[in-house]
Parts: sequence; C-alpha cells; structure tokens
Amino acid sequence: MRAVGIVAAAGSGLRLGADLPKALVPLAGRPLVCWAVDTLRAGGAAEVIVAVPPTERAAFAAALPGVLLVDGGASRTASVRAALAATAPGVDAVLVHDAARPLTPPELVGRVLAALGAGARAVVPVLPVVDTMVVVDDDGLVTDAVPRAPLRRVQTPQGFDRRTLADAYAGLADDADLTDDAAAVRAVGVPVVTVDGDERAAKVTVAHDLATAELMARTTVSATEPQVRS
Ligand code: C5P
Repeated sequence: MRAVGIVAAAGSGLRLGADLPKALVPLAGRPLVCWAVDTLRAGGAAEVIVAVPPTERAAFAAALPGVLLVDGGASRTASVRAALAATAPGVDAVLVHDAARPLTPPELVGRVLAALGAGARAVVPVLPVVDTMVVVDDDGLVTDAVPRAPLRRVQTPQGFDRRTLADAYAGLADDADLTDDAAAVRAVGVPVVTVDGDERAAKVTVAHDLATAELMARTTVSATEPQVRS
C-alpha cells in the first residue's frame, strides 16, 4: 500500500500569539511543520505534501527542502483539498495530519496505516474523555451533563483510502469548513474506524501547549542522548 502524507500547515497561529505562521514556530529549535513531516515519514508515508500559507512559500521551502508544497486556503478544509488534488492517482492511501501536532509518535502513524491495510476506508486515532462534560447556556449556567463514556477526542493523522476521501471532498460545498476530514467521509456513509490515539499527539493551539511541548521534546531528547560524564 502506497501512502502519502498531507500536512495542513496553512494556519495563522493567531491563538498562539505568534508573529509567524504557527507551523513555522520553533519547537526545540525546529519548526513545528518539520516535526510533523518527519513523523509521517518515520511512520510509513512514502512522501509528504504540505499545504502552506501562499504568502509564506519561501520560508516553508527553506524549512522543508525537497518537500512538495501547495498553496493552502482560507480554511483547513480548503488547505487539505488543495493538497489532496496534488496527490498522484496511483496513491492508495492518504494520511491527513496537522502541523500543529509535532510530537505525534511514528507508532501512531503505524497504527493508522495498519488499520487501512486491514481494509478500513477511514481511520481516526481517538482518546477517551477524562473530564466531566456539561452543556452551558449563554449566561454560563450548566443546563445539562453529557455522559462521557461514549465520547472520544479525535486526533490526527487520519487515514483514508485516497479515492474515498477525494470523492467525499468532491461532494463538499466550496466554503465547507470542517475541523476533521473523517466528518466528510462519514457524511457519505463510509464507516470510520478508530485506533488508539496518543497524548503526545496533542495539538499546539495556545502558548501553554507550546511550553508543554517544549518540555516533552527536551525530555525525549535528553532520554535518548548519550550521557557525557566529566
Ligand atoms: O487552527 P487549528 O489549530 O485548528 O488548525 C489545525 C491545523 O490546520 C493546523 O496545522 C493549521 O496550520 C491547519 N490549517 C490550514 N489551513 C487553514 C487553517 C488551518 O492548513 N486555513
């Protein structure tokens, strides 16, 4: 099975408070997008296509030499659509990943690919919900509680049979804006299979997330570096 990785990296990073696109914000000295590309490759993607902000192509090309870049769009859905259009027809599977999930372990990519290899047409990594979930009205009052047992948090990379995702995207409105690609295929009746997610695949959204990722990256690096004795 030939799988291509698609990285959605065309977001602005407004919520992170960064003065450059979020995907170029450094984590342990390397842009977030470089971590995401490396993870997809290490997990089994034969090649990777990255959707970038059109005005920042040069900076992304410098960070990602040899990687195919496409102009992203105004929404994540538009960015993924552009990258999907750049995949070759001979590709069997696509792995759609957020640049904003830099510390996703390659084993998670492997689990998604294994489920595709076993015949699934759409695969999402999920984690259980640990907090109590409630519904709140406009005044901030709790109006209802939601049973959390069946709820899951959905991560990326999400894996798809390429044709299945392309067909689902072809049926979307031009201005569709989904937070999740699996919603597009589920809407046309394709079963979406789940595999175990990983806390390390957490999304970097606000400054606290980046600080947490820095700590995690340092711990991982220092645990694998040879110890130098004086
Ligand atoms: O904004 P959020 O963190 O939910 O974005 C998830 C991912 O989608 C990020 O990696 C971001 O770069 C990407 N994105 C995109 N094109 C957009 C908006 C977001 O590729 N127009």
